[in-house]
Amino acid sequence: MAWADVAAKIKFWGPDGTPLTINGVSVSSYGGVSQFSKAQKDEILAALQELYDNPNSITAHALLDAGAAAGDIWLANHTGFGSSSFPGSRTAVIDFDQVNSLEWMGRDGQFHKDHLGGNVIHQLIHAIDGTYDLLDPTTHLPANTRDYNNPIFDHLGLTIRKQNIIFHEMGWGDGYQQVGYNATFDVNSALLRNDISYTEGETIDIAYFDSSLNSTENTLDLSRRADQSNDLIIGSRATT
Ligand SMILES: [Zn+2]
Repeated sequence: MAWADVAAKIKFWGPDGTPLTINGVSVSSYGGVSQFSKAQKDEILAALQELYDNPNSITAHALLDAGAAAGDIWLANHTGFGSSSFPGSRTAVIDFDQVNSLEWMGRDGQFHKDHLGGNVIHQLIHAIDGTYDLLDPTTHLPANTRDYNNPIFDHLGLTIRKQNIIFHEMGWGDGYQQVGYNATFDVNSALLRNDISYTEGETIDIAYFDSSLNSTENTLDLSRRADQSNDLIIGSRATT
């Protein structure tokens, strides 16, 4: 497929119409959806074309080919309400505020800023591959609290693992690899620092911050893991 063929399959809620149902998903089920401007559509398409046309970006290229081959892909504006996707629906919503504010812990122990191409391709992995973020290691379903201390808990999830492969192929830097889905600066922006490496540049596999999502709040223990991972653990004396 050529980029023009893929781009023709990506529909933007607003410039490409405002149907109440997109690929069988009711737009209202996302909540707070608004229309993209033509400029926002062009900005997202430019970011995706960069991912598609880069000769090293095999994984993103294949993902977008698979999505476009399956049918239309719908994106809607969700600025102020978070980017998200119903896995496997070939629909997603994008939050431009999140793109500009989200900072996640990288493989080099330092926070990195999200950017548009990374944010959109993450949602398209959900939308096209049907993968989730974090799953409970026992039920294999998404859960409201996270069993982080379980020795087989996957702190990244399949979507971030694929996202990281894409970031690597794009050459966005050795540290520009997300190492914990919930390890973001906004967990405790008063305590955390985004101007240092917490590991003095040492490479880490998992970043684990305490938060109200932790099913064992105030207890952070990765000592039973068998995967020899290098871990960064930050507690913050969570209050309820
Ligand atoms: Zn996700």
